Amino acid sequence: MLVLDPHGEYVAAAESAKAQGYGAVVVKVARHHVGDVMYKIGVVDTDPDALADAAGVPPNASKIRYAVYLAHAIAKRAHKAGRRVDLRDLVALLRSAAARSAADKLVKEWGVDGGEELEDLKELAQRNRHSAFSAAAYLKRLASLGVFSTRTTALSKILADLTVVNLAGASDEVADYVAWHILTRVFRARVRHVRGLPGVKLDAPIAVFLEEAHRFAPPKAARRTRSYEAVARIASEGRKFGVYLAVITQRPSRVDPDVMSQMQSQIVMRVVNPKDQEAVRDSSEQLAQDFLDNLPGLDRGEAVVVGPLVRLPAVIKLRDRLFEYGGADISLAEAWRKRRGEAEAERGAILAWRRLFGRVPPPDVAIASRRLEVKSKASENGAWRIVVAGDDGEAVVELSLERSYAKCSRCGSAQCPHVYRALAEVVRVAAQR
Ligand SMILES: [Zn+2]
Repeated sequence: MLVLDPHGEYVAAAESAKAQGYGAVVVKVARHHVGDVMYKIGVVDTDPDALADAAGVPPNASKIRYAVYLAHAIAKRAHKAGRRVDLRDLVALLRSAAARSAADKLVKEWGVDGGEELEDLKELAQRNRHSAFSAAAYLKRLASLGVFSTRTTALSKILADLTVVNLAGASDEVADYVAWHILTRVFRARVRHVRGLPGVKLDAPIAVFLEEAHRFAPPKAARRTRSYEAVARIASEGRKFGVYLAVITQRPSRVDPDVMSQMQSQIVMRVVNPKDQEAVRDSSEQLAQDFLDNLPGLDRGEAVVVGPLVRLPAVIKLRDRLFEYGGADISLAEAWRKRRGEAEAERGAILAWRRLFGRVPPPDVAIASRRLEVKSKASENGAWRIVVAGDDGEAVVELSLERSYAKCSRCGSAQCPHVYRALAEVVRVAAQR
């Protein structure tokens, strides 16, 4: 699994995976952020225009871009001659050209002939010093991030059972470039594996999770990103090469409709914005109108699922998060024990319900009961009086397991969420004894 994570929100998930014995790697793109491995992209392997984009050079600043192009071409020659060049070398070259000093000497130190490009760079700096200085300033800022370096990080160093690419700290331009870079490499490595072509191969299928997908694949008409190419390619052709894609967004209307329409299954949570509702409807033929009508009314953690993931469209309720992401210390043992305790209480409640009513509890009753809280409880000779409270007030449940008896002060009918919640509490107390 590969997660592109713009805000570093999956770092804790990777920690959980590690603690459970999975191989997990957090890849960072900014020096001062969290990660196990720094992702590096070789400067000379990068197209100079892409480098200028990543550095934030405006598209119409043609002289600055030309200066980047020339310095890059000279650096590339040095690289071929065996010198390891990085962004700081490009910055030094541009500065010396702008200051009209020692550019020749510097290039000679690299062990190469600067050729036409060096002459052109010197001439450009002569006519327009600003362009060379600005190019140096843009590249220097990019260098401080640390992602562009002398060579590119091997895929084998970053891919694990779970790889989280923590893009926090990177500008939109850099995040876009890194996303494009990693996705393109992964896709090509899978194509090589499936087709038996030479080069770096990836022998296991891979599922890509694109968090905040609107940042990488906005509608073509709205904005062009570099990563769009890679995302669109994986969306349309990925499956046959074992590259699967999950697109995650809170704003479906801001994701390219061609990419959305390639998604076979959908998990749709609460959608209020009409534009987003429209985008969801357009992306799936399977979403019946009555499901769409329900989208604004879904509660937190509830979702409509359609597509091959489920046999029939379904409404699901997600269980509570197991780990407090972002919390300082996660005690796994404690979290699991708590989870096991809850699961046992749940099983006990279901059994008790069956004993009382001769059937399993309806799922909606069980789900609704989770929103209720036990306010007070008292028991006498096996007869319980339990007060439970929800958003809409309190209810008093009287029940006795021995006498197969349960009554709710609010619903009268005994098969309600209040009774279920009270039963779960009785079972929990019994288990503690
Ligand atoms: Zn009730």
